Amino acid sequence: MSQRKSSVLLILLVLAVAAASAVAQTSAAAKGPLPNVVVLATGGTIAGAAASDVQAGYTSGQVGVEQLLAAVPQAKKLANLRGEQISNIGSQDMNDEVWFKLARRVNELAAMPSVDGIVITHGTDTIEETAYFLNLVVKTRKPVVLTAAMRPSTALSADGPLNFYNAVAVAANKDAAGRGVLVVINDWIHGASSLTKTSTTAVQTFLSPLRGLIGVVAYGDPEFYRGPVGRNTVDSEFSLDGITTLPRVDIVMAYENMDGALIDAVVAAGAKGVVVAGVGNGNMTQVALNSLAAQAKKGVVCVRSTRVATGRVGRNVEVDDDKLMFVASMDLNPQKARVLLRLALTKTTDVKQIQKYFTEY
Ligand code: ASP
Repeated sequence: MSQRKSSVLLILLVLAVAAASAVAQTSAAAKGPLPNVVVLATGGTIAGAAASDVQAGYTSGQVGVEQLLAAVPQAKKLANLRGEQISNIGSQDMNDEVWFKLARRVNELAAMPSVDGIVITHGTDTIEETAYFLNLVVKTRKPVVLTAAMRPSTALSADGPLNFYNAVAVAANKDAAGRGVLVVINDWIHGASSLTKTSTTAVQTFLSPLRGLIGVVAYGDPEFYRGPVGRNTVDSEFSLDGITTLPRVDIVMAYENMDGALIDAVVAAGAKGVVVAGVGNGNMTQVALNSLAAQAKKGVVCVRSTRVATGRVGRNVEVDDDKLMFVASMDLNPQKARVLLRLALTKTTDVKQIQKYFTEY
C-alpha cells in the first residue's frame, strides 16, 4: 500500500472512532441523570451472616443497610441509592408493627417527586405476605420491588448481591411502573399476588404457579411480559389511613380425621376470621365443616383455601358456600387469603362483599 493510501485510511479510521464515540456520548446523555432509588432494609437472609462460608446454620438480619449497599457497588451505576433501616429481623418474625412502619414509609417516599423507585430487602419466609400486603395498601404507580436471598451474605456463592442488583435495575426502570408491587429474585420478576415459596433451601425457590411471571431480569437488564393481575396499589380500596391495628385472622390446616377443635380454638383466641388450608379444592371433614359453618353463622368470616401448592379454590364446587356462608379463596393461597381477609375486615363483615374482594384482588 502506498504511503498516501495508508494515511487516508488512518484519517478515516480516526474519524470513524470519533464519530462512534460522539454517538455513544449522545446516547448516554439521552439517558439523562440516574434515577433515585431508596432501599428499605428489613432483614432476612440477604442480611444474614454465618461463622463460615460453607455452613448451613446462620442468623438472619445481621448486616445493616449501609453494608448491604457497600457490598454491591455496581448498583450505584444503575441508580442514585440511599438506604434506610426499617428493621433487622428474620422474616419469620415479621409482624404488624413492621408492616405498618414499612407501608407508611413506602407511601411517604413514593409521594416525593425526588424518589423514582423503592427496593425493599426482606427474608424469603414471609416475603410473599409482605409483598401482597404492600400491593394492597401502598398508593403509587412507581416501582416498589422486594428482594431477598436464600444464602446468607457470608456464603460461598451468595445469591443476595445479584438479586439486589437486579432489584435496583427493576426499581430504576420506567417500564416497571404500574405493575403492582414486584418481587425480584433469582432472575425472575414476580407479581405480589402470584409468587410463593416452594423449597425450604433451594436458591430457585419462588414460583408464580397460577399466573406466571411478570418478567425476567438478566444482570440488570429487565424484560416485562405482562401487567399485574388483580386490583392493586392505586386501584386498591384498602388503605392504612386512620388504622392502627388489623383484626386477627388465623389459618387452620385440614387433614385426615380433622375435628373442629382448632377452628373453635382460634375463634376463642379472638379471631374475627378463619382461613382453612383445606385438602384439595378447599375441602375438610364433615365434622370440621360443621364447626366452620357454626362459626360462620355467628359472624366469623370463614374462607376456604387449600394446602395444595397450586390451583384455584372456586365457590360451591364440593361445598355449598352459598348455604354455609363461606368465602372461597379463588387464586389466593392461605397466607395471602389471610392478608386480604384482615384488610377486608377493616371495611365489612358482609360475606358477599368479601367474596367480591377475593374475586377482584
Ligand atoms: N428465615 C429467613 C427469613 O425469612 C430465610 C430467608 O430470608 O431466606 O428471614
